[in-house]
Amino acid sequence: MKILVINAGSSSLKYQLFDMDTESVMAKGLCERIGIDGHLKHTPLVGDKPVFNEDINLPTHSEAIAAVIDKLTSAEYGVVSSMSEIDAVGHRVVHGGEYFSSSVVINDEVMKGIAACNPFAPLHNPANITGIEACTAVMGKNVPQVAVFDTAFHQTIPAKAFTYAIPYEYYEKDKVRRYGFHGTSHRYVAGRAAEMMGKPAEELKLISCHMGNGSSICAVMGGKSVDTSMGFTPLVGLPMGTRCGQMDMGAVQFIMHKYNIDIDEMLNILNKKSGVLGVSGVSSDFRDLEAAMEKGNERAGLALDLFHYWVAKTVGGYVAAMNGVDGIIFTAGVGENSAETRKAICEYLTYLGCEVDDAANAQRGKEIFINTPDSRVKLMVIPTNEELVIARDTKALIG
Ligand code: AMP
Repeated sequence: MKILVINAGSSSLKYQLFDMDTESVMAKGLCERIGIDGHLKHTPLVGDKPVFNEDINLPTHSEAIAAVIDKLTSAEYGVVSSMSEIDAVGHRVVHGGEYFSSSVVINDEVMKGIAACNPFAPLHNPANITGIEACTAVMGKNVPQVAVFDTAFHQTIPAKAFTYAIPYEYYEKDKVRRYGFHGTSHRYVAGRAAEMMGKPAEELKLISCHMGNGSSICAVMGGKSVDTSMGFTPLVGLPMGTRCGQMDMGAVQFIMHKYNIDIDEMLNILNKKSGVLGVSGVSSDFRDLEAAMEKGNERAGLALDLFHYWVAKTVGGYVAAMNGVDGIIFTAGVGENSAETRKAICEYLTYLGCEVDDAANAQRGKEIFINTPDSRVKLMVIPTNEELVIARDTKALIG
């Protein structure tokens, strides 16, 4: 069975074609600048086919999907002989609100549910819908499509953790609450952690630290998300590459009044100019920050310290939420690659009995325990694989 996984953004579209018999990626690629001019990078991963990396005209997502199918099936760059070999499409959809607590086969009713969540994710959900409609237009209605939601895994979070302490009518009438994101990643790494630990997920208390450009932490008890650090939007929780994380609305109002900034501009600052970029003035990329700090840049050092501190105190909060922890997982760009970040975070957690094995921690790019044999808590690096989860859910749902 071959499954195409699509992650459609407003002007971009990422894809991977999976052979689900071996769970291997046959080809992957990225359409960019859709609706502006257009560029496609297509990388075949089977055979010795060349990479296609050129500007092409992509006025809408339909042309982008058509170009992807064309490359996947072409004699020169292709990995399948025709579109009919693609059995199904799995889509990453950012927001499923309270409508979706698991992945679903897409039909008219599901499309209405996704559209109903548009106000919650105005940049992402409409783009996801455009990607689904483009696939229907190019591949026809007979190819099944599945939606996999970033929010779905967190639908098990109890009311005490998802309710904002504001007048309750905003939840009752408008569904304003904590939703959480990165659910597909947290679900995948928590499942892998249970396998690595050789225990049923139902018996484990895990904390998953997804640390990339966007970062969130998730408390997973008995295989279910019970709390997470992002909220109604992905702006809050930890300070991130460019997002502010937890913030006092009173301080936001003060800045807006003082500098005559409207709410849209303020949110742009909090989303795109804050986080470790805002504090350091150097970069949102942790590699740049580590390099700058080594050269003596104090604000780069402060940005990193602040990030480690927030991760550690959020982990501490989730230990309290679950009344214990068996394993802590590090994943995503920073979590998988930065030994310094993992070490700095774990130094706050010695009270829990977390002990890092420096030699194991220095390894990269694979699933590994990084705790010493004496450590009371297992510490794991687990490379995330959201695309594989989407492909697996799609396969499971279409039977
Ligand atoms: P992601 O959003 O998961 O793709 O993560 C991207 C981020 O990972 C980049 O912006 C970097 O900050 C970080 N990153 C990638 N490689 C490294 C590395 N070797 N050391 C530290 N941070 C890294």
